[in-house]
Amino acid sequence: MSRNQELRERFEKAFMPNYGVPPVVLARGEGATVWDVDGREYLDMFGGIAVSSLGHGHPALVKAVSDQVATLAHSSNTLLNEPEILLAERLLGLLGAPGKVFLANSGAEANECALKLVMRARPAGHVVATENGFHGRTLGALSLTGKRSIRDQYGPFPLDVRFVPYGDAAALREAVTGDCRAVFLEPTQGEAGVVPPPPGYLRQAREICDATGALLVLDEIQSAIGRTGAWFAHQHEGILPDVLTLAKGLGGGIPIGACVGLGGLGDAFARGDHGSTFGGNPVAAAAALAVLGTIENDGLLAHVRSVGDQLEAGIAAIGHDLVEGLRGRGLWRAIVLTRPVAAAVEAAAREAGFLVNAVQPDAVRLAPPLVITPAQIASFTGALPAILEKACTS
Ligand SMILES: *Cc1c(COP(=O)(O)O)cnc(C)c1O
Repeated sequence: MSRNQELRERFEKAFMPNYGVPPVVLARGEGATVWDVDGREYLDMFGGIAVSSLGHGHPALVKAVSDQVATLAHSSNTLLNEPEILLAERLLGLLGAPGKVFLANSGAEANECALKLVMRARPAGHVVATENGFHGRTLGALSLTGKRSIRDQYGPFPLDVRFVPYGDAAALREAVTGDCRAVFLEPTQGEAGVVPPPPGYLRQAREICDATGALLVLDEIQSAIGRTGAWFAHQHEGILPDVLTLAKGLGGGIPIGACVGLGGLGDAFARGDHGSTFGGNPVAAAAALAVLGTIENDGLLAHVRSVGDQLEAGIAAIGHDLVEGLRGRGLWRAIVLTRPVAAAVEAAAREAGFLVNAVQPDAVRLAPPLVITPAQIASFTGALPAILEKACTS
């Protein structure tokens, strides 16, 4: 039996069945390349759900985390540490607007903070979120999540959340009445299959919220930290939210989440209103500082735009009848298929040495490390016709 198979069987016996049994046990990585426990090599075109922003084993991340864990691994929120302060200041600097930060440990926790901030700032009314949107699995975040298959078995939820079709400004305008507390939006829906809204939608959402006093909360947990070629996806539309949530790519693989309250929202909590034992952890903060510093020092935003264009052009040039089109921006894309065979494409890609994600039955998501090289992109687009062919016949 292969080592992969043996470990997968042990996983199945020791773990709850909520994930099924994933196909590969990873052992190590370097840049955008990973190896499994049997020594098989893969090009990581998915970055562990858009998380491994600097790839694997990046020297800046390794040094920052190693130095910090050897110096001080934890302070709790009863004491401070310097990295958490530097990180909050850095995030506010990148946003270019006054605000205040809460540090958490995951995306769902960042959204829980956003939700409580909204409840504090707007004590009554309903919340608007979008159909097929994803905001996390904890009960507060799940109540905002518009994907019925993961939501319905845990309801009803205590919050009045009304769902509108994503990208439909008229529906949003209708739902955001005077008693609406807030609108929660992803700048592009990630788990729904990298679905961007029509151009101008975020600007319209901003205007609609401004007209009624509702708060605009942008969930940039998947879309930020360079993924689209900008620090934050909302910067493409030139707007600012009232509340912003971050996680995934921020720590480059080390768990961290952040909720930023902009303007007055930064001061909506009173003392004692919220907390997290691990939030602001110095190792996680050091990792995030290394990620942000490397993106800036290595010009990775421009790199993402350039290899993102290369990826788009490479896929467009294939002209396979299984490819209907490509959605997304930068290094955050979905190959839209003409038939619901994304799982077969994912399996065929893995066979060929590429890790991709069947995010929807008819969409394959790509979110490789931001450091992926042009040669690696070319190797993927070069292999794609045979992968698609294999998926058609399997
Ligand atoms: C992944 C994700 C979350 C949840 O993050 P977790 O760290 O898994 O809790 C929330 N919102 C969006 C947009 C995400 O992509």
